[in-house]
Amino acid sequence: MRNAYPTFDDAQLGAPRLPLVDTFGRAVTYLRVSVTDRCDFRCVYCMAEHMTFLPKPELLTLEELDRLCSAFVARGVRKLRLTGGEPLVRRDVMTLFRSLGRHLESGALEELTLTTNGSQLARFAADLKACGVERINVSLDTLDPDRFRALTRWGDLGKVLAGIDAAQNAGLKVKLNAVALRGDNEHEIPDLIAWAHGRGMDVSLIEVMPLGETGAERLDQYLPLSEVRAGLAQRWTLEDIPYRTGGPARYVRVAETGGRLGFITPLTHNFCEGCNRVRVTCTGTLYMCLGQDDAADLRAPLRASESDEALQAALDEAIFRKPKGHDFVIDRPGRPPALRRHMSVTGG
Ligand code: SAM
Ligand code: SF4
Repeated sequence: MRNAYPTFDDAQLGAPRLPLVDTFGRAVTYLRVSVTDRCDFRCVYCMAEHMTFLPKPELLTLEELDRLCSAFVARGVRKLRLTGGEPLVRRDVMTLFRSLGRHLESGALEELTLTTNGSQLARFAADLKACGVERINVSLDTLDPDRFRALTRWGDLGKVLAGIDAAQNAGLKVKLNAVALRGDNEHEIPDLIAWAHGRGMDVSLIEVMPLGETGAERLDQYLPLSEVRAGLAQRWTLEDIPYRTGGPARYVRVAETGGRLGFITPLTHNFCEGCNRVRVTCTGTLYMCLGQDDAADLRAPLRASESDEALQAALDEAIFRKPKGHDFVIDRPGRPPALRRHMSVTGG
């Protein structure tokens, strides 16, 4: 039986502290950490083809990332998702997974997971499982090799499929994330869902969000999921279910396949009222909302001393400022992105 509140087995975690609760009464229990801004793909909705990445010294070291995550765990974070960029291209990232795994063992953390493009999974699936990871999200928008290459610019579908095989063989539960793109994978979405459900994988569909310049016009890419859902409902019986994973997806069960299908709709449905999460970048910048620019620097207090006092004070101050919601809009051609930072900075 796991404790409702963290136990503090690390000397560095110090004395038990109060959970992080914002001014709207929402407890922050879910942390997403971008461990690198780099990636081996250049998905058209996420990055421009030529990106300038952060100089390596700017990045938190793996030890610093561990300390930062542990400080959140000490304040009641129960779910930790490592993301990026592509988390599995960060050198020695498995060291971080291994060390964070101790919080699973102590019961302080309920879930340690990652979001990945799958390109390196064949190499790391078994290690991830050994670190205590149980479920992972793999992003895959198409099963057509040419379309996959066009969408990711650099990706190889075969490697991702081999990665998914390896993950399932290692006993990891895989969920697919697919961004719905007008005129691109639009007509393939039912096949992708049928394929995933046939392999025992849930699917979440995501609306394209206006983050960062990518060289593509968002309004052309944007496909409201209300439209996708209406199309799917012509073919299948979609039954609303209360299933939640701690994320923003609303789920249905597809009666004909028996699988679950999630809809993540930041633009057509505001999901902020139940928001329990915050995001940290690989430089230690804390974003209290994916859709707002307000941020807090955690790297300076982290590096200021070996004690976590300054860091914890910075957390309190930042969570106090967590806003009520985002203001994404995609309504006019040529409109600049709502936020200048790319999804790969905050990690989706
Ligand atoms: N590289 C990993 C991956 O692709 O799974 C993790 C990072 S990626 C930024 C996390 C998720 O964000 C992916 O599922 C990706 O499809 C999604 N994403 C990236 N840019 C997006 C955008 N502009 N709108 C909506 N989803 C986006
Ligand atoms: Fe890389 Fe993921 Fe962004 Fe694609 S969505 S470019 S895989 S970070």
